[in-house]
Amino acid sequence: MTKTTDVAIIGGGVIGAIIAYNLALKGISCTLFEKDRFASSASGATGGIIGPIWYVDHTIAPYWDMAMRSFERFPQLTADLLNAGINPEYRQNGVMKVALTEELHSTLRGNLAWQENLGIGVHWIDREELLEREPEISPTAQGAVYSPHEGNIRGKAFVQSLINAANKLGATCLEQTEVTSFEVKGSRIVGLRTMTETYHTNQVVLAAGAWTGVANRWLQESIPVRPIKGQRVTLKMPGFHPYCPVQSIVPQMDGTFLSCATREDGEFNHKITGAAIRQMVDNATATFPILKYAEFVSAEAGVRPGSPDGMPVLGPIPGWQGVSVASGHDHIGMILSPRTGEMMADYIESGDSSPLDFFSIERFTDGRIQHRPKTLFSNIAYDR
Ligand SMILES: Cc1cc2nc3c(=O)[nH]c(=O)nc-3n(C[C@H](O)[C@H](O)[C@H](O)COP(=O)(O)OP(=O)(O)OC[C@H]3O[C@@H](n4cnc5c(N)ncnc54)[C@H](O)[C@@H]3O)c2cc1C
Repeated sequence: MTKTTDVAIIGGGVIGAIIAYNLALKGISCTLFEKDRFASSASGATGGIIGPIWYVDHTIAPYWDMAMRSFERFPQLTADLLNAGINPEYRQNGVMKVALTEELHSTLRGNLAWQENLGIGVHWIDREELLEREPEISPTAQGAVYSPHEGNIRGKAFVQSLINAANKLGATCLEQTEVTSFEVKGSRIVGLRTMTETYHTNQVVLAAGAWTGVANRWLQESIPVRPIKGQRVTLKMPGFHPYCPVQSIVPQMDGTFLSCATREDGEFNHKITGAAIRQMVDNATATFPILKYAEFVSAEAGVRPGSPDGMPVLGPIPGWQGVSVASGHDHIGMILSPRTGEMMADYIESGDSSPLDFFSIERFTDGRIQHRPKTLFSNIAYDR
């Protein structure tokens, strides 16, 4: 049976879901296909820290601009999603990074000047104030940097709320529906196939996370997205609940908290390993020693979509019409999701891909890779 949709989106993680939501806001008919459950990989296992100042390189202007404009969108976006019926569990209680060692102290102090200049209230808090806020903090803590307007979101809830809002605006979002191939006429994609149906469409968006490279087989094009597995643990302890994410300990609205996350380049599976659990528990107890008594609730794994330079890959696929890509968000897909959704929906509506030039796939073949983003937390134990 053949169906029709203006836009077909492959992937029901945060990137596919936010594109569906933005298209639906514009009144563009779209169908989203998810082979498993919504948010079943990276977006469900995420730490959900909305903290651009720690994880995005502020010296790369288009990348930083995407992150900061996304960051500004979160309060209104999440209020709209809540109004539509599902709470995305966004908390804007700030993010704190604690100077637990001399090395961390100098990293944090060294970056404070540019962070303070952002005008978003980032400031140093001394040991005394830190102890008032987080009495269980490690005795080695010398102070901390606090960024009061950052926050965190629950990945699964965020994706569910986007899907719910998109559905209410007329989108169709399908779970357990794997896209198995494209329908091609010359150099134009005119549709796609699932196990049971064929869809005619004008535009396909590949937002399949770490699986985005599957289109390499269908198109004979190289989309350089690679898997970077991440594991986290969920813990619980009566009477203990940090006010905001501290290091990579992330409080959740149900009273549990996460300890995030491993970074396993090239691993393409969702296995939970003992080594990862130990590493995450060790990270948690290094920050809050009392957590050696915490209850282990669960462990989760997801596969991040990595790209050769660590930045997203957005926009048309050269040599093909009717297909674009939105992937490669690596460790900051939650942070970058609001602007990704807006920019991809604007491109699909207008056909003008120039605002996406910096993130285009062509940068990997035309010698334009000039940037290797560095993040504050890329070389220390708390790397996500
Ligand atoms: C442990 C961990 C901690 C993290 N912490 C943070 C954080 O604190 N802050 C932050 O901003 N980011 C964080 N990230 C990164 C962020 O979660 C990811 O960048 C983001 O979730 C990627 O979203 P995505 O939609 O591209 O991919 P995914 O969420 O993986 O979604 C892709 C979806 O496509 C589906 N799919 C694939 N092929 C097909 C097909 N043929 N047909 C239909 N469906 C298909 C898959 O089943 C999958 O559900 C973390 C990630 C991990 C793993």
